[in-house]
Amino acid sequence: MTIATNLGFPRIGKHRELKRALESHWSGKSSADALLGVAKELRAEHWRLQRAAGIEHVPSNDFALYDQVLDTIQLVGATPPRYTALESNPLRAHFAMARGFQADGVDVPAMEMTKWFDTNYHYIVPELFPGMSFRRGSDKPLAELREAAALGVTTRPVLVGPVSLLLLGKMHGAPVVTLLDRLLPVYEELLGALGREGAAWVQLDEPCLVTDLDGAAEAAFRTAYERISKVSGAPRTLLTTYFGALGDNLELATSLPVSGLHVDLVRGREQLEAVCEALPKDRVLSAGVVDGRNVWRADLDDALASLKKIGDARGTEKLFVGPSCSLLHCPVDRSTETELDAELSSWLAFATDKLEEISALARAVDGGALGDAFEKSRAAKASRAASKRVNRPAVAARLESVTADMARRKNPYAARREAQKTLGLPLLPTTTIGSFPQTSEVRAARAEHKAKKRDGASYEKFLREETERAVRRQESLGLDVLVHGEFERNDMVEYFGEQLDGFAFTKNGWVQSYGSRCVKPPIIYGDVARPAPMTVAWSRYAQSLTKLPMKAMLTGPVTILQWSFVRVDQPRSKTCREIALAIRDEVVDLEAAGLRVIQIDEPAIREGLPLRRAEWRAYLDWAVDAFRVASSPVRDDTQIHTHMCYSEFNDIIDAIGAMDADVVSIETSRSRMELLEAFATYRYPNEVGPGVYDIHSPRVPTIDEIVELLARAAKVVPAERLWVNPDCGLKTRGWPEVEAALRNMVEGARRARRELAAGGST
Ligand code: GLN
Ligand code: ZN
Repeated sequence: MTIATNLGFPRIGKHRELKRALESHWSGKSSADALLGVAKELRAEHWRLQRAAGIEHVPSNDFALYDQVLDTIQLVGATPPRYTALESNPLRAHFAMARGFQADGVDVPAMEMTKWFDTNYHYIVPELFPGMSFRRGSDKPLAELREAAALGVTTRPVLVGPVSLLLLGKMHGAPVVTLLDRLLPVYEELLGALGREGAAWVQLDEPCLVTDLDGAAEAAFRTAYERISKVSGAPRTLLTTYFGALGDNLELATSLPVSGLHVDLVRGREQLEAVCEALPKDRVLSAGVVDGRNVWRADLDDALASLKKIGDARGTEKLFVGPSCSLLHCPVDRSTETELDAELSSWLAFATDKLEEISALARAVDGGALGDAFEKSRAAKASRAASKRVNRPAVAARLESVTADMARRKNPYAARREAQKTLGLPLLPTTTIGSFPQTSEVRAARAEHKAKKRDGASYEKFLREETERAVRRQESLGLDVLVHGEFERNDMVEYFGEQLDGFAFTKNGWVQSYGSRCVKPPIIYGDVARPAPMTVAWSRYAQSLTKLPMKAMLTGPVTILQWSFVRVDQPRSKTCREIALAIRDEVVDLEAAGLRVIQIDEPAIREGLPLRRAEWRAYLDWAVDAFRVASSPVRDDTQIHTHMCYSEFNDIIDAIGAMDADVVSIETSRSRMELLEAFATYRYPNEVGPGVYDIHSPRVPTIDEIVELLARAAKVVPAERLWVNPDCGLKTRGWPEVEAALRNMVEGARRARRELAAGGST
């Protein structure tokens, strides 16, 4: 019998119940018990619906209040010492690690956060140090196993595997895997405890097995799983890999002494035969054939053909059918959608649809009737292929007409720098990344307008007033390059997608980005084109309010691509170039409207990097090219900025240089300016704005901190090419803390200017 399985279900709830509960708790409006109650209801509901859909191996401990890696850090007792004073209240310590904590005489910043592989999900980075010790620090996996059992649902606990946990962490002084011997006893003890608690299987997520591994990491995998296989009374182990093919780790992964191996047969489709061949016949093969990262309805006939191949090669006695990866990365429930037209909706599958697809496949492999899910799959395929909304001749013609010159500024940076002196900026110019607080009034006004309870004129008036207030505030704070605040935007990608052809939007297709933050990625289903200007009116208005330079704000093509669900019927590079041409038209219009500074945000460039280094070059070539196509049509005296967050630049610094923006602002404060080293070594030729404070936390930076960071930055980037700005946009923050932080930032910049003028005193 083939087993239908799932690797993880989205936690946020189909109406983002978890987000609301978290935020209400954080703001002091509701108790810890209220939050934990909502979490418990969500888990119960998700277990029930997975079972009802016919999933036989249902995951537990895939739930997390904030992040599963953060849970694992606490599970193995790896909480950094600076939070232990808060641990008398475990939930407070938990959120302090995630978000920082500033009250009751305690002031600790948050832990570092970064992208989960090449997704837009963020995890908390384990902070490791040589010689650290581990111990079991929580019983979460056991508690959730019990909780599900009490509801009559047998589950398979999910754990971040020990080797990936280390590899995802950061340590100075020695390679992370040197901690393996210290860490393993915690896993061994836990697996024994899970066995005693009645778990038949445990899922050990080791996505690092689809990445480039060095010899030490490979050895760590062998040691870890050898030792885990010897734990007496432990559950059977399903080693799960996802986000790509095993590639050169195939021999390693298939030879580890586990009970089963899960492989991604969507992104790693090509590995099917090789895995069938290499995996010993006594192991379970868990086939990830339903895409856990995209929204398209699966081609079930095609997936079934793959499964039959596996059946022919190995029988179906030891076959699981599942999603390619956890369903964490796709929206929850399509039945909450009211705005998608029927045709488009019929092309899509959200998490709950995917469960049906999985169980339909499992039944079909065993010879059951094909049924409803197969009919829907065939109908979707036929209707997409025939749709005129997908392929547009005008877009194809424009792509044909792109020349190499279109991806080049007229003159090199040095000449542009001279021309841009007319902007009249001081040394260490201050600016922000674009958005200002999306207060409850701003969100309420937008919601009312959307619900047609507020007419267009009154909404527009509100936004104009809000923008004007933001401009006045920036003027009185003393910032040098202003922004309009992005009050009219819901989200930096959605705002553009809504005005472009080829995009569709859901009303409720939320996906967790980090903690309580969710995003609603647009769906790119067809050729992209810009029917009309998108941002020009707002930027022109904002510039009319002030004599200071106003920075126009656009989202770049790679980011729009990366943060959308992208069509799979043509290469991503081609879709990206279509978007680049649309942004290019906008840039031309902004310059014509009198904007002298234009920022094209590309926070997603790095996360788009393929997991395998061998594939980087090709990606970076088309990604950089798209940015250049979008940003190059301007005069020398028009200053192009770009912004990136969470980027670890060492690897891609040459590509960032190749983008040839006049100014790049980057996130640095959460990893204490380590990133700047890359800029020092590479000698980044243009201007850089290293973020001087972390905007993901409500904590207000001190003036001293800012002066110190700037002094450090000035050691690697000449002060003449240094900008002063926060790490990222300020939309998630409140005005009081934003004003306090920016006041300190501006004052810090002034002091740094004085110190530099006095010859530097650090
Ligand atoms: N301009 C955007 C903002 O300020 C940039 C956001 C981002 O980089 N994620 O909100
Ligand atoms: Zn950012």
